[in-house]
Amino acid sequence: MSKFHLETLAVHAGQPAKGDPTTNARAVPVYRTTAYNFRDSKHGADLFGLRELGNIYARLMNPTNDVLNARLAALEGGAAALTLSSGTAAIFFTVTNIARAGDEIVAASNLYGGTFSQFDAILPNVGIQARFAPVNDIAATEALINEKTRLVFVETVGNPALDVADIEAYAALAHRHGLPLVVDSTFTTPALLRPIEHGADIVIHSLSKWIGGHGAGIGGAVVDSGKFDWTNPKFALYNEPDAGYHGLRFAHDLPEPLRPVAFTLRLLTVGIRNQGPTLAPDAAWIFLQGVESLPLRIAKHSANALAVAKHLQAHPKVAWVKYPSLSQPELAAKYLPDGAGGMVVFGVKGGSDEARKFADSLNGEIFSLLANVGDAKSLVIHPASTTHSQLSDEDLRKGGVLPELVRLSIGIEHVDDIVAELDRALDAI
Ligand SMILES: *Cc1c(COP(=O)(O)O)cnc(C)c1O
Repeated sequence: MSKFHLETLAVHAGQPAKGDPTTNARAVPVYRTTAYNFRDSKHGADLFGLRELGNIYARLMNPTNDVLNARLAALEGGAAALTLSSGTAAIFFTVTNIARAGDEIVAASNLYGGTFSQFDAILPNVGIQARFAPVNDIAATEALINEKTRLVFVETVGNPALDVADIEAYAALAHRHGLPLVVDSTFTTPALLRPIEHGADIVIHSLSKWIGGHGAGIGGAVVDSGKFDWTNPKFALYNEPDAGYHGLRFAHDLPEPLRPVAFTLRLLTVGIRNQGPTLAPDAAWIFLQGVESLPLRIAKHSANALAVAKHLQAHPKVAWVKYPSLSQPELAAKYLPDGAGGMVVFGVKGGSDEARKFADSLNGEIFSLLANVGDAKSLVIHPASTTHSQLSDEDLRKGGVLPELVRLSIGIEHVDDIVAELDRALDAI
């Protein structure tokens, strides 16, 4: 389908216009089944022996999820995609599909709070050490790379400080050292940015945010560019016989047409099959509904958020405003030419107490005070006291989570209503 434009792929990729192959249903059916019948014992034996490909058990294969996987791969320009039970699982199972105990990873420090904690506090428990450098400080990032490093990780637009990552600079750095660049593109979605076009090897999404788009489910996705060469022996998980899957060496023993997606096949057959972070087909269906309108919604999110950012810049009670196309115009022009997304962060004059008072006052009419982003509805939070409260003062500062920072996820309501609510809440402090 790659000849079609993004808007067309968002509606059709993964399911031809003929509809469901078995029922002719036009909408994607939800296949609520745990297992699939074998025709006879030989069929079962052939499926298990990989002599025939087909459905066995829904922990690792479901036709509903398959449509979503194919659609996300098409939108990102990737070779394959898999969906998982959450964005958090997508990140964890990506890292452990590349690195093992004794290995290290290098990441930008301005990460989503949950990702930072996973890397900083939890990966060491499975023997993987994460090292952090300030986003876009390529020299500092390079200084952390050593013979144990297995990947470089960055977010397209960091949360919550909204720094735009220079993906091409990161890709050049990673590839200079023979490493894959893994990019969390949750804040941009393929409607705004396709990291593979800029050299990323693996793209991760939390589907719970703009791709789902309605705050109605938790899920994650991993898209494989199919371009990274895993045959370097330092990637032991790809070059040594895998006890987790028939002793297969994923970089060498797959039939030629499957070799480019060795990463995806390992994630499916070792990560998802034997560690279990499966996305429920009901959730996959919810995300398929969201994907269809993604390009339309993102355009509205971006237009509303830009108008909000400009309005706040001129407000006397606002100390500073960050919005990618206003704060980093060069990087935004390069990576986000079609709009800079739905997030706006700003500092309230007066600091933490005033920021919390503002959020409380804004909460309730059209803005909700809660820990989420990417809903069609506008959302507000004070990150320093909530999403990022587990971090030390030093880590907060490194991640750009200042005490006066308020994070807005601007929805698709009428922009005049959004601005009027913001003014009302600013008046109240
Ligand atoms: C929400 C989010 C995640 C985690 O995704 P879940 O689906 O909530 O597990 C990861 N990265 C970013 C940038 C996010 O916004």
